Amino acid sequence: MDKRSSQIILIGIFIGIFIGAISGWIFGEKMQAVAWLGVLFMNALKMVIIPLIISSMIVGITSLGDVRHIGGTGIKTILYYTLTTGISVLIGIIMVNLIQPGSGIGTAGAELLERVQSKENFSFLDVLMGLVPPNLFKAMVNMEILPLIFFSLLFGGVLTTLGKKAKIMITFFEVINDAIMKIVHLILWFAPIGIFGLVAGKLGSIGGGEAFQAELIKLGKYALTVIIGLSIHATVVLPLILYFFAKKNPLTYLYNMGSALTTAFSTASSSATLPLTMECVEQKNKISSKASSFVLPLGATINMDGTALYEAVAAMFIAQAYGIDLSAPEQAVVFLTATLAAIGAAGIPEAGLVMMVVVLQAVHLPLEGIGMLLTIDWFLDRCRTTVNVWGDSVGAAVIAQTKEIRDDEQVLDK
Ligand code: ASP
Repeated sequence: MDKRSSQIILIGIFIGIFIGAISGWIFGEKMQAVAWLGVLFMNALKMVIIPLIISSMIVGITSLGDVRHIGGTGIKTILYYTLTTGISVLIGIIMVNLIQPGSGIGTAGAELLERVQSKENFSFLDVLMGLVPPNLFKAMVNMEILPLIFFSLLFGGVLTTLGKKAKIMITFFEVINDAIMKIVHLILWFAPIGIFGLVAGKLGSIGGGEAFQAELIKLGKYALTVIIGLSIHATVVLPLILYFFAKKNPLTYLYNMGSALTTAFSTASSSATLPLTMECVEQKNKISSKASSFVLPLGATINMDGTALYEAVAAMFIAQAYGIDLSAPEQAVVFLTATLAAIGAAGIPEAGLVMMVVVLQAVHLPLEGIGMLLTIDWFLDRCRTTVNVWGDSVGAAVIAQTKEIRDDEQVLDK
């Protein structure tokens, strides 16, 4: 997509957000009438996710060629995910200790949510077991992304060992990948209207601006703690990483990510945003697809800096509201389980809220506390999803600088 077109679309998206917010704020419930525009946009993005993940992962892996390169890149990617998620949780824990948003606010709204109960027996083994799909097509139908990634990596890896006869298969997936990216470009033209529908429809469904304001006031200090934490991570930590490890100008990089980040905010789903994240990273920021095809799909499901920070802040907020003091070792448990919960959370709206169970159970906090976060979660979800996607895109730039990928690029350039 040329520069001018993407500028027009980005301006359109901002106008869409603006008009959506104003009309949803003023007209409230009536604006639910335009929600279908947002659903249409979300569906269009979801439509391309499965073929995009399979084709881009297979193309990415086969283009890395040497299996040893795959291992090295994989380890560095996991290291990046772990490190940045850890920093993010730490920022959250520091902020919640400093601001103490839960102290003395009582436990109004605490109730055991039904959807929370499904996660009561969650363990890390579930993530591991979820990797291998007993039925590949069922995984596609249910949009389970991790098993698809696992299969595509395996398939791509094996293709590289088959020699000449695999060439036709690799070309086949390359063409699918190119065609899907073309479809993504078409969907992008609809983004301003879709995002308008999402924003106006959501504000409408909660009853307009006044209802939103009332929610904000009730849980304002808590929301502020999450937002300050997310802002520090997104505007200080990640840009520094981008500058020093990927040698990129953070402002330009951020600007080029515009349509993906605004979509992340509007859809509250890293997975639904994935097609646009890939478009912005590869085509606008010119990051090697060898890195992005691997880092981004995996990141959309397991690298969630924003969610991890939120898990830690929310758990400690609940403890403060119940008047329970968490000791330093208990806070260390919150640190670990918040990271785990973020890895386990799917890239869909409010997945993080449900995963709170993992953190609360680990430090014996009442699960009912999750009910207290409910009214404002739809908004914080959007903020944390934006940071999740930003973290993934910075990761792609960092991994593109690793020796394995750079060596490969040089071989190709010759
Ligand atoms: N909605 C988030 C995402 O898709 C996950 C969460 O609920 O924190 O990245």
